[in-house]
Amino acid sequence: MTDPNFSIEFFPPKTAEGADKLRIARGKLAELRPKYFSVTYGAGGSTQQGTLDTVLEILAEGHAAAPHLSCVGGSKESIRAVLEQFKSHGIHRLVALRGDLPSGYGGAGEFRYANELVEFIRAETGDWFHIEVAAYPETHPQARSPQDDLQAFVRKVQAGANAAITQYFYNADAYFQFVDAARKAGVDVPIVAGIMPITNTTQLMRFSDMCGAEIPRWVRLKLASFGDDSASIKAFGLDVVTQLCERLLAGGAPGLHFYSMNQAAATTAIWNRLVTPQ
Ligand code: FAD
Repeated sequence: MTDPNFSIEFFPPKTAEGADKLRIARGKLAELRPKYFSVTYGAGGSTQQGTLDTVLEILAEGHAAAPHLSCVGGSKESIRAVLEQFKSHGIHRLVALRGDLPSGYGGAGEFRYANELVEFIRAETGDWFHIEVAAYPETHPQARSPQDDLQAFVRKVQAGANAAITQYFYNADAYFQFVDAARKAGVDVPIVAGIMPITNTTQLMRFSDMCGAEIPRWVRLKLASFGDDSASIKAFGLDVVTQLCERLLAGGAPGLHFYSMNQAAATTAIWNRLVTPQ
C-alpha cells in the first residue's frame, strides 16, 4: 500500500494508571507513523481538561494531534474559550461534533447540531483549524431518514468542514453507497472510514447498539460461538476487520481512522497485515 493515510483515536484516561497505560500504547502506535492522533471530548465539556492534557502530551512527543470538540450543552462563550485555548497551544486541527448529553443533564445549550458548531468555528477563527466532522454510512440513530441524515452531513461540509470521519461499520457497501450519495449531493471532501477493531464481543455489542452500527448476522453468530475464548475472538476479528480495510482501500477510501480504545495490539495487528500482504 502506498502513502497510508490513517489516524488513531484515544479517549482521555480517567486515572493516573490509565494515563500510564495510554503512554505505553501510544509509544507502540506511534511506530506505525499515523498522520495524527485524535482525542475524544466528553459531552457537555466533561473531559475538557483531560482532552487538552492528552493532546498536549501527544504534541510534546512530536506527533500531530487533534482534540475532538462537542458543542451540545455548551454556550457560545464556553466554546469560544475552548477554541482560544486550543489556539494558544498551537493546535490547528480538530474534530467538531454535536455530542450526546447524558440523560438528566440540564439545558441543551446554544448549539443544536454540529453544522452550527462548524459555522461558529469558522466565524470565530477563520481558517485556523482543519475541521473534521462525523459521517454515518449506516445512518445516525436519531436521524428522521437516511436522506435527512445525508443533508445534515452536507450542511456540515457547507459550513466549512475540510474532511469527515465515519462512524464504524462492518458493511463496506454502506460506506461506498454513502460516499456515492455524498458526491452526488456535491460533497467533495475526503470521507475517511472509521474502523473499530473487534476484540471483545460484549463491548462491541454494547457500543454498536448505542451508536447504530450493524454487526452482520454471520459475524454476531461467529462471535457468540466463541463464548469467552478471547484468542479466537481476536483472531476472527483481525481477519474480518483486515478484509474490511482492504476492501475499503481498494474501493477508494482516502484513509482509515482507528478507534483504538487506548489499546495498541489490535490496531497494530490490522495495520501490519495491511502493509505486509499475507
Ligand atoms: P450532527 O451532525 O449534529 O447530527 C446529529 C443528529 O441530528 C443526526 O441524526 C442528524 O441527522 C440530525 N440533524 C442534524 N441537523 C438536523 C436538523 N437541522 N434538523 C433535524 N435533525 C438534524 N461524541 C462525543 O461526545 N465526543 C467525541 O469526542 C465524539 N467523537 C466522535 C468521533 C467520530 C468520528 C464520530 C463518528 C462520532 C463521535 N462522537 C463523539 C459521537 C457523536 O457525538 C454522536 O454520534 C452524536 O449523536 C452526533 O454528533 P454529530 O456531530 O454527528 O451530530
